[in-house]
Amino acid sequence: MSRQGDSAAATVAMTIGAVKFLCDGMLTRLGRFLRAAGYDTEIAGPGEHDGALLARAIHEDRLLLTCDRELAQRRAAEGRVIVLPSNGLDRTARALDAAVPIDWFRAPFTRCLVDNSPLRPATPEERDRLPTRAREIGDDDIFTCSQCSRVYWPGSHVRRIRQRLAEWSRSK
Ligand SMILES: [Zn+2]
Repeated sequence: MSRQGDSAAATVAMTIGAVKFLCDGMLTRLGRFLRAAGYDTEIAGPGEHDGALLARAIHEDRLLLTCDRELAQRRAAEGRVIVLPSNGLDRTARALDAAVPIDWFRAPFTRCLVDNSPLRPATPEERDRLPTRAREIGDDDIFTCSQCSRVYWPGSHVRRIRQRLAEWSRSK
């Protein structure tokens, strides 16, 4: 293992309890799955590039996940950056898991997939606006984003994401 790899592992060991991520734009889908798993994960905006991303990762104490090898070679990147393949979500997820052990069911659906904000239980009014079949599943499984008010309930979209997380958990 390279010196940089050792350093990354040491950083991860220190922060594993509260590891937070910052994904570059190429890894937006992975970022959403990390949010689904319950990890605090920011995703770079279209205008945010290399130097700014690295500075943000350091400032916010996040591991920067990127497909950009050159970025990882910067001095300030040591122990802070993990380079991942960009060709396929499954491959990318497994490569991350190999670098940092990921609990894909750490706290499922406790964060908004779109903006990373914490979810809260839906109010009766929010539940009333859902389709009938969503309301029938029970109050305990319906959550709302504290930021954008998007409502999450275990419909087909959420089920598909859970299935993917389960596949990644099984193939560890
Ligand atoms: Zn939201």
